[in-house]
Amino acid sequence: MKLHEHQSKTLLASNGIPIPRGQVAASARQARAIARDLGGRVVVKAQVLVGGRGKAGGVKTAVNAREAGKHAAEILSLRIAGLTVQKVLVEEAAVIRSEIYLGITNDRAARRPVMMASAGGGVDIEQVAAQTPEEILREHIDPFLGIRGFQARNLASGIDLPRSHWQEFIHVALGLHQTFVQTDATLAEINPLVVTDEENLLAVDAKLVLDENALLRHPDLAELRDVDAEAGDEAEAREHGLSHVALDGYIGCMVNGAGLAMGTMDIVKHFGGEPANFLDIGGGASAEKVAAALRIILRDNRVRALLINIFGGITRCDEVARGVLAAMDEVEVRVPMVVRLAGTNEEEGRRLLAESDLITASSLAEAAQKAITAAA
Ligand code: GDP
Ligand code: MN
Repeated sequence: MKLHEHQSKTLLASNGIPIPRGQVAASARQARAIARDLGGRVVVKAQVLVGGRGKAGGVKTAVNAREAGKHAAEILSLRIAGLTVQKVLVEEAAVIRSEIYLGITNDRAARRPVMMASAGGGVDIEQVAAQTPEEILREHIDPFLGIRGFQARNLASGIDLPRSHWQEFIHVALGLHQTFVQTDATLAEINPLVVTDEENLLAVDAKLVLDENALLRHPDLAELRDVDAEAGDEAEAREHGLSHVALDGYIGCMVNGAGLAMGTMDIVKHFGGEPANFLDIGGGASAEKVAAALRIILRDNRVRALLINIFGGITRCDEVARGVLAAMDEVEVRVPMVVRLAGTNEEEGRRLLAESDLITASSLAEAAQKAITAAA
């Protein structure tokens, strides 16, 4: 679950990380009043659950309250990466000397968290990661010991931070780690962490992504979910109990079981295709769930063929077939669909689908190849 910038900042501040003073507004008038309270020189920032807001015109500095109101009105009418802006954060503007990247996430290969820092912070950290990865310093963190002071110092020295800021930097790094652990986050990021003209460190932007599976331990954090601000697909998938992850390819995949879904993606790749998504409809998926899954996959314009791979155990193939048929009544299926059904009630499932315009396959390899051919 992604948190908004202002929510992330509040959590970081509770662990001692300095953040700018500010408040959230839902209208230009409110933004103006907040800006006036803050003394006029503010930055107005779109609160949407995506990055790259700066480049999309969602971050603007104002010299007085009137201008802040004007910026807020503009930003509140924006759509950023398909999401409408419903709120803005109005904060005291920082005068920035330099921008640092500081983040922590899980390194699955190393089986432990890793803290990363770079002197090339700001809006282009992805570019740094792609072009000059050596400029991103890493410290792996022992999950039992937590981050040690010397590791934070290694990062500070590695990014050539002046020594006068080390103590403060260590404090921020430890606070970030503490927040990451306390909230069961999968990502905690400050980008940029800035050195201000007053020679202080300040978290100017923050992002927390929480582990959905750990939310039951954090009822207070679960309440922070902003359903209105989530991407339509994400909310819809969750509502129907589907695990859906959008990817960059063109073969839409609908599978039951996470392992089988991974296997299906691997086979698609093996035969030279690119999966458009990971989608696990779960065990015992009902027709209604299948219909929702199809709607989500087919909404993606890049999808050129659909591959349905069902291994019926608890999930019954006939039920899935009914779901597919129901969805076809409801959504216009504009791409070829390849179906492989195996297991419980497969004959009944195949019989139901025989009348419709589907390509059938008996093995997964055959299904993947047929889907790739159909997409060409
Ligand atoms: P993002 O584009 O979604 O990552 O949004 P950020 O909050 O990181 O803002 C993008 C950029 O705007 C930052 O890297 C800064 O360069 C700039 N920015 C953000 N807040 C301030 C501020 O208070 N003062 C100044 N001068 N620049 C800011
Ligand atoms: Mn940022």
